[in-house]
Amino acid sequence: MPPYPSPRTRKVSVTVEKAARTAPAVIVAIDGPSGTGKSSTSKAVAAQLGLSYLDTGAQYRAITWWMVSNGIDVADPSAIAAVAEKPEIVSGTDPSAPTITVDGTDVGGPIRTQEVTSKVSAVSAVPEVRARITELQRSLAASAVYGIVVEGRDIGTTVLPDADLKIFLTASPEARAARRSGELKGADVNATREALIKRDAADSSRKTSPLAKADDAVEVDTSDLTLQQVIECVVTLVEEKRAAK
Ligand code: C5P
Repeated sequence: MPPYPSPRTRKVSVTVEKAARTAPAVIVAIDGPSGTGKSSTSKAVAAQLGLSYLDTGAQYRAITWWMVSNGIDVADPSAIAAVAEKPEIVSGTDPSAPTITVDGTDVGGPIRTQEVTSKVSAVSAVPEVRARITELQRSLAASAVYGIVVEGRDIGTTVLPDADLKIFLTASPEARAARRSGELKGADVNATREALIKRDAADSSRKTSPLAKADDAVEVDTSDLTLQQVIECVVTLVEEKRAAK
């Protein structure tokens, strides 16, 4: 790998930047359950259109990692609420290299462990946690000069109800489990499927801003689509919105 972009890569990225600068800023909300391709799609769409990118699941994972690391009982919502303001969570929004730190520590790896994954739904259901993280998300979206793609569970319904475009990605439990166990390098498909269904049920049934499709969201079923097809579909929808602004 050369230490700098090749002339061709540079030309393409300069063109993307120019396009983003001349187009009106656009806010895109992409919601849906785990394993529907939200992260891969959102990152690629943002990179292709010169937009910022925010993985809100990573923020909930980061605060969960902090709770676990500090010995907070995640089965006790009042214990979580009491310290929800403490960790400083910073998200880097470059789609080609998104980052996440807690109190200055890079937690990009530790937030993907099985332990954090199994506890994140309990932590993210606490209203004080949601209020804190929602505020962070809104301020990042407001500061994205050329626009942003924000992916999560409640972006279209709660965090950014005035987003220019809302997408709700779905896929069959089988397709989602197959993708996730592929990402987890050979994890058992049945166990992955059960864990996904359990997490989605918890995320959909919580009282504060559950996983839900906004009334004005475009639903895209990705079960039988390749990642490239989903990206193309979303890029087209964003370009249509931009043209209409
Ligand atoms: O997207 P990801 O699987 O990394 O999200 C991890 C968890 O974070 C979800 O299962 C959910 O509990 C929580 N989450 C949320 N609201 C969001 C994004 C994620 O509650 N907007």
